[in-house]
Amino acid sequence: MTTVVQKFGGTSVGDVTKIKRVAEKIKKRMDEGKKVVTVVSAMGKSTDKLVELANDITDSPDPREMDMLLTTGEQVTISLVVMALKELGVDAVSLTGWQAGIETEDVHQDARITDINTENLEAHLNDGKAVLVAGFQGVSENGDITTLGRGGSDTTAVALAAALNAETCSIFTDVTGVYTADPRYVKNARQLDSISYDEMLELANLGAGVLHPRAVEFAKNYQVSLVVRSSMEEVEGTIVEEEASMEQNLIVRGLAFEDGLTKITIERLPNQFDTMSTLFSLLAEEGINVDMIIQQNTSDHALNVSCTINTSELGKAIDLLHDNKATLCYSLIRHESSLAKVSIVGSGMVSNPGVAADMFKVLGDEEIELKMVSTSEIAVSAVVPDEYMVKAAESLHAYFGLDANEKAKIEAVKEIV
Ligand code: ASP
Ligand code: MG
Repeated sequence: MTTVVQKFGGTSVGDVTKIKRVAEKIKKRMDEGKKVVTVVSAMGKSTDKLVELANDITDSPDPREMDMLLTTGEQVTISLVVMALKELGVDAVSLTGWQAGIETEDVHQDARITDINTENLEAHLNDGKAVLVAGFQGVSENGDITTLGRGGSDTTAVALAAALNAETCSIFTDVTGVYTADPRYVKNARQLDSISYDEMLELANLGAGVLHPRAVEFAKNYQVSLVVRSSMEEVEGTIVEEEASMEQNLIVRGLAFEDGLTKITIERLPNQFDTMSTLFSLLAEEGINVDMIIQQNTSDHALNVSCTINTSELGKAIDLLHDNKATLCYSLIRHESSLAKVSIVGSGMVSNPGVAADMFKVLGDEEIELKMVSTSEIAVSAVVPDEYMVKAAESLHAYFGLDANEKAKIEAVKEIV
């Protein structure tokens, strides 16, 4: 008997009607003769509501207590789905993260899974039960409840699929699959049949919200066959796999974008071996996530350093830099907010030079100012003023042949080749 793992996100279990629908879907898989493990998120926006409750009490909630609070959301869902299954005559059981044997590092709010002991879970499966597992949670070595970072239920599902050697891991969500770009912004975006782990990982890290990056990393490491599909419509989803078929020789597979970025420039730091490590260690210790970094030597041997951070962390970063002015010995800090990052991603870039040049030409023709750029093997990112984010994305989407409109697509392919 094969095991399948499926995950339903918050919107897919947003109310009682939807929960009943999920139970029906589980029953259907059981009737097909599968062992079914289902991971669910908290209902709708309930995790956000729990965060708000904590913030109404304190600006700096204790991380351990925050995990205790946030894990309750998923527990509501697992029990309700089991009740709905029992109403359908299906034997089922709900398990919290620790009951499902999900062990994590001893870190709160963003713990990594270290091991999964599937004994209990498998015993229930062998008894013929549908098993419901609370997503996004685990237990640390010393018995504390931990969470896997916002959006972490995807990771729970993929990790369980790996540990149980499941046939597939289906991520049911409120979109029908992975798109070439977020269709809420780019109207010509279209759904992909397949995408490689590496491309999906880049897109997820660069701001495409459809899958949690750590889940994709897990899927790649354990070669989990992953499908993203709609919980509302019976349509084919997108397969995430090792080698996605190269559709029409397109070099770019998809685009990701995110706003809310700020560029900080620290001018005239001393040009010493430890300058960069001191500066970035300070930011890291304060938990400030830094993205792109540019280091420049001035003609008189000082250093200018620019980096991007989330605008929400600007106050914290500026305070930190001011407090450490004597240690860092810089002359001036400048910052520019209201920025966005637009990225193109595709495995085809590895063997095709000139993709970055094309991207800059497209943005230049649209008179969109480039604030910073960075590249990886299969991605190029540009930081632009946020008011141009969607325009940049739409122009790049069309140029690189991704538009839903076939004619435009073929024209653009001709131009690239
Ligand atoms: N409920 C958690 C969140 O909202 C985890 C998840 O949905 O994956 O982040
Ligand atoms: Mg999610």
